[in-house]
Amino acid sequence: MNETPSREVPEFKLGERERRELLERFLRYARINTRSSETSETFPSTSCQFDLLRLLEKELKEIGLQDVGLDECGYLFATLPSNLSDDIKAPVVGYLSHVDTYCGTNSDSVKPQVIEDYRGGDIVLPGNPDLKIAEADNPLLGKCHGHTIITADGTTLLGADDKAGVAEIVTMMDWLVRHPEVPHGTVRVGFTPDEETGNGTRFFNVERFDARAAYTFDGSELGEIEDETFCGDSATVTVTGLDIHPGKAKDRMINALRVGAYLIGRLPVEHLPETTEKRESYVHPYVIGGEVGKVEIKFIVRGFTVEDLRARENDLLAVARDAESAFPGTKVEVLIQESYRNMKVVLDKYPQVLNLAEEAIRRAGADPIRSYIRGGTDGSALCFKGLPTPNIFAGGTNFHGLKEWASLDWMLKAVETGLHLTYLWGCEKEMP
Ligand SMILES: [Zn+2]
Repeated sequence: MNETPSREVPEFKLGERERRELLERFLRYARINTRSSETSETFPSTSCQFDLLRLLEKELKEIGLQDVGLDECGYLFATLPSNLSDDIKAPVVGYLSHVDTYCGTNSDSVKPQVIEDYRGGDIVLPGNPDLKIAEADNPLLGKCHGHTIITADGTTLLGADDKAGVAEIVTMMDWLVRHPEVPHGTVRVGFTPDEETGNGTRFFNVERFDARAAYTFDGSELGEIEDETFCGDSATVTVTGLDIHPGKAKDRMINALRVGAYLIGRLPVEHLPETTEKRESYVHPYVIGGEVGKVEIKFIVRGFTVEDLRARENDLLAVARDAESAFPGTKVEVLIQESYRNMKVVLDKYPQVLNLAEEAIRRAGADPIRSYIRGGTDGSALCFKGLPTPNIFAGGTNFHGLKEWASLDWMLKAVETGLHLTYLWGCEKEMP
């Protein structure tokens, strides 16, 4: 058993062995098709996600983790027990990543391409010579000269989102088991399904996971920590018109299709996804369906603050009233439902969670970059379930597309960051 760890850092310098094993793990996981589905009625949305989950279950057991358990919903949890002396109670920290890949892009027989010692310039994708990853369009490539770069072959995504995170966490755990001299508290590991369909935390049991704080390894470039997300709501607008035989329609018909088109045309153009960036808010119509008598339009509403969200919802309510007065006799109903909230509201209550992550990144030799996500993540939902969970870089980028790529060097830095983070949490007192 180890004494109270001191804040003097062990140096987690990872060598050729870790580098090779991290690469092999990542390639092994990337080749397994784990595409999720937005239209499926089952959970997880596709059974192929179990192909990877079962392999991971076996590998975690082989490494020597305890309580390795995969449930029928596709949540795989495991424990690395504390090696501190019994009277030291450090908070339990958790690491998470998702095994599924984006539902909208082909992931059948992923053939990774490994480019060692990348010297700059455009990267040709061997399975699709028309497609290349141009350095000019990828400013991050400029930071990766000399790195090992991994891409797909141009016919599929790569799946670094989020198999980079999975491979990093397994490598971290393997290293910690092989280095019992490094003191740490209890660590929980979780691999989850269906992040890409937005349902990744639906059956995530926070009590069973039983950590005081967690980190998803699901971000991009070296040093990145994401602690802010949008607040999101959905809105359904139902337009009721009046259908009458067109031959007898004069002064009587109210065409809900025209009302719907009018309403969408009146939305403020400066608050749409295609006209906004950074912390700007928007309202976005994404499905429309119906006929003369009735039309339904689905919207999402997004903003970093609840005030911004309300402002966009008020825009929508105003155009609904406007449409009613422009088409007398029509009825326009707006139903707004809460989807998720900015995780920052929760994370601000636990400054330690981000402070330790920043310290770990610095100790790994990188500069922390705080950033925000114009979307939601599993971490934002977990924050509101009581588990503070920011997102840490995993070393890949161009997620969801055929030009996705990852830097093995950044992935190795993510492993190093996780080792420092584990050590730092071992020095902390139990949280209030
Ligand atoms: Zn992801």
